[in-house]
Amino acid sequence: MVTPLGFEPRTNGLKVRCSAVELRSQALEAQRRSYPVPAHLRHPTAAPILPAARRIRGEFVVILTVILSFIAAGFVSALAWRLHALNRSGALAATLIGGTITAAAGWSAGALLIAFFITSSILSRITGRLRPAQGANVERGSNRDAWQVLANGGVATICAVAWWLFDRDWLLGAFAASLAAAAADTWATEIGAFSRSKPRLITTLRPVERGVSGAVSPLGTLATVAGAATIGALAATLLRDHGASSAQLFIAVTVAGIGGSLFDSLLGASVQLQNRCHACDEITERRVHRCGTTTVYARGWRFLTNDTVNLLAIVAGAVIGGVLFR
Ligand SMILES: [Zn+2]
Repeated sequence: MVTPLGFEPRTNGLKVRCSAVELRSQALEAQRRSYPVPAHLRHPTAAPILPAARRIRGEFVVILTVILSFIAAGFVSALAWRLHALNRSGALAATLIGGTITAAAGWSAGALLIAFFITSSILSRITGRLRPAQGANVERGSNRDAWQVLANGGVATICAVAWWLFDRDWLLGAFAASLAAAAADTWATEIGAFSRSKPRLITTLRPVERGVSGAVSPLGTLATVAGAATIGALAATLLRDHGASSAQLFIAVTVAGIGGSLFDSLLGASVQLQNRCHACDEITERRVHRCGTTTVYARGWRFLTNDTVNLLAIVAGAVIGGVLFR
């Protein structure tokens, strides 16, 4: 049977195996010409295993895909736990997030998430080793807990699920951009700590102490761009078959990541909650200063803690990415 699109004969037998990419692009083509999209083409991770399971009902394939996604995510998370890149709660959160993203947006989206965590973990480990037991970021360590995993991957998960529900490709751009913003922030914090020059406040360019929120340095800025561009390049490689070229994806995701990080610095320099350590007479975003003293409120909006600002920066990155990708 020949359909107007001509893809039916290529996918109907068990003999012909189409790649996931082919099936996906055919589905997009069908959508563009406003033909109804066959149900089996709508789910990206279902597509590659579908020809073999065609006789069985489509729902079963989707359920199987979801189960496989969570098994794969659990395996990768357990590995990360064994390698001390995640603690136990972090591994559980990563299984939840990784499984959901893979089930909703496909293996390439899951691969991008893994690439994000691997590059961030390697970076944290290297800088943690180079940095002696002093400086601003000592207590963070490289062993990520559930909160850090959810803060970095939660927005990406929402975008991936929304993409599956509404099938708009800009949501996939937002997914990658949220990871780019998270990476940009991580890289800036980890590498920026090594800056020799005194950082300056992004709003007034006045020199400030290291570790003050909203402070930027040339090295930290370079790290921000590098972190965003790394995720941009990975997204351009992994997600290019979704209605955008590699170059478009790279630019949109990278710019969004940098934009999110910029938003982070602007909030940090203006309205983020700042505390004061009376022992050292220093302004800090921490509740317990590095000297061990519990800090008191100095200025800023009380609900806008460092964690909240980081989360808002990731949301901003996702929004910018979504807009640029449209
Ligand atoms: Zn102190």
